[in-house]
Amino acid sequence: MERLLWRLHNISPAPHSPDRFDAGLRLHLEHTDLLTILVQIGDQQQAYISAAGCDGCGRGRHVPGCYVELLLRLLTATFEAVDLMLVPQGLARRPYTQVVLARPGKHGKPFDGADLASWDNARVAMHWQRGVRGLKAAVVLAVGDGPDPAAFLRERGWTAHLLPKGIGPRTANSPIPRAVWFKSEWGSAPFLLTPQLRLVQSGRLQVEEEGGEVREVRAPLTHPSVSANTTVEG
Ligand SMILES: [Zn+2]
Repeated sequence: MERLLWRLHNISPAPHSPDRFDAGLRLHLEHTDLLTILVQIGDQQQAYISAAGCDGCGRGRHVPGCYVELLLRLLTATFEAVDLMLVPQGLARRPYTQVVLARPGKHGKPFDGADLASWDNARVAMHWQRGVRGLKAAVVLAVGDGPDPAAFLRERGWTAHLLPKGIGPRTANSPIPRAVWFKSEWGSAPFLLTPQLRLVQSGRLQVEEEGGEVREVRAPLTHPSVSANTTVEG
C-alpha cells in the first residue's frame, strides 16, 4: 500500500497518558512501520506521519484493521487533542542547506521540537520499524543556515553523516517522506515528534504543497462507538 502523509492537526505537545501511549505505540510498531515528521518554519511547527494506509484512507472510509485508523484510535485515547488530516500533495520544498542522515548509537537520546529552535527552517523525518531484537530507527534532519545538524545529533548520541549538497536537499524535500535507510537499534521508548513551539493551526500556506482541487480528508474512526480502551491492534 502506498505511503500517505497525514497532518497531526492540533495535537497536544505530549500525551496525557504517556504509559498507555508508549505501550500502544510499541504494539503498533510490531505490526507496521511509521515515519514521524516535524516541520519548523520560524517559530511555527507542524507534525505529520507518513504511513501505509488502506484503500479507503483517501475517502475517509477505512478498511477494518487499517493501521492509520488504529493509530488514530491510539492517539485519540492518549492525547488531549488530535485530528488526522490527509495531505495529498505532501510537503512544500524548503530552502534546506544542511541535511544529515543519522542512526541512534547505543546511548542515543530522544529529542523533540524544542531542540530545533536554533534553526529557522528544519524538517525531521524519523523512521521507526521493527527490528530483529526490538525497535530500530533512523532519521533525516534537514535544516537551513545555522548550527551544524550533525553536531546536534552527535551530542545526543546519534551517528550522523552530512549528505552531499547534490543529494541532501533533494532527499529532504521529498513531498511525502519515505523510508530512511541504515537504521539501528533503539533501546528506549519510541516517540512521535509533536510541535513544542507555537502550534500552527492553519500552516498550510508555507508548510504544505498547495493542494489544487484535492480536498483534505479527515481520518474518522470507522467505528466511533468502539471504546477507546479497545486494544490498539486487532
Ligand atoms: Zn485507512
